[in-house]
Amino acid sequence: MKITIVGAGAMGSRFGYMLKKANHQVELVDTWEPHVKIIQEKGLLVSQDDKNIQVFIPAYFPQEVKNIPELIILFTKSMALESTLQSVKNILGPETKVLCLLNGLGHLEVLEKYISRKNIFMGVTLWTAGLLGPGHVNLTGTGSLEIENIDPLETKEGKLIVEALNKADLNCTLSTNVTESIWKKACVNGALNGTCTLLECNIKEFGGLEGSGTLIREIIKEFREVGKVHRVNLNVENIAQEIEGIYSPEKAGDHYPSMYQDLIQNHRLTEIDYINGYVAKEGKTHNIPTPYNSFLTLLIHSKEQLLVK
Ligand code: NAD
Repeated sequence: MKITIVGAGAMGSRFGYMLKKANHQVELVDTWEPHVKIIQEKGLLVSQDDKNIQVFIPAYFPQEVKNIPELIILFTKSMALESTLQSVKNILGPETKVLCLLNGLGHLEVLEKYISRKNIFMGVTLWTAGLLGPGHVNLTGTGSLEIENIDPLETKEGKLIVEALNKADLNCTLSTNVTESIWKKACVNGALNGTCTLLECNIKEFGGLEGSGTLIREIIKEFREVGKVHRVNLNVENIAQEIEGIYSPEKAGDHYPSMYQDLIQNHRLTEIDYINGYVAKEGKTHNIPTPYNSFLTLLIHSKEQLLVK
């Protein structure tokens, strides 16, 4: 399949590498100059299991890319989604399918402004990746993803995408309720990302705090109330217990959430407006109180002002 990855950072590079290895025709698109130039000149360096592999994948800046693909996989950060879609309008053909795998909430509203519903596929992934520098991606662990066609008539196309992704061992399934899965993952991120970032601790340290059980339940309760407006049913206790199950170092305990990495380590803006901030915004619109999510969002934005230059 002709697949273009738009947003070829950590996750885009991982997917690009795995899809290329499975003989798909892959192109990478990104705005980060040193990253794109290194991939163009030397290929993408992939580190995995103490091995380094150099992979040659065509890489472009958005203004350069010309080929209209069968599938676009979006992997920018949430706050860049709208400008990204504007910058790649020229490769959105009438039959080009677009799969959005960004974390967070509210992306469908943005996608629908640029893409017809029949071509939109939403997904959520448990794969992870990290960048070690421009042109250099580090891969650990395994993962999975679920995707779903937004238009119920497009199930056949959904199956074809699943098949193409599984050719690359991406462990993909066709979901019948991806919205709920996206919200559940947003709850996990909403409970851990902002809190660990503000407290400057890893997941295990957060889990060891006396008040963490109460805190995550209060945050998730607000997701549940706002989720009802979007016809999403969330079980607070099940999600809280799922989160508490990853506090041990054998699971994700030693991990610092991506928001911590973005803001504390790299002084970059965060995706807070698409996680807790989305719940706060929707709560305001629909008269649902969201004190925990609103306060978290405000504090993260305050910390961004202090740290992002
Ligand atoms: P990243 O910052 O490594 O990559 C994002 C890339 O998008 C960057 O390279 C950036 O230059 C590029 N970009 C920005 N604007 C662009 C534009 N207009 N056109 C093209 N490219 C543009 O981020 P990431 O860690 O790969 O995460 C991507 C998404 O996947 C996020 O929503 C994140 O929450 C989610 N996610 C990440 C992980 C992970 O382990 N890193 C796991 C699951 C989901």
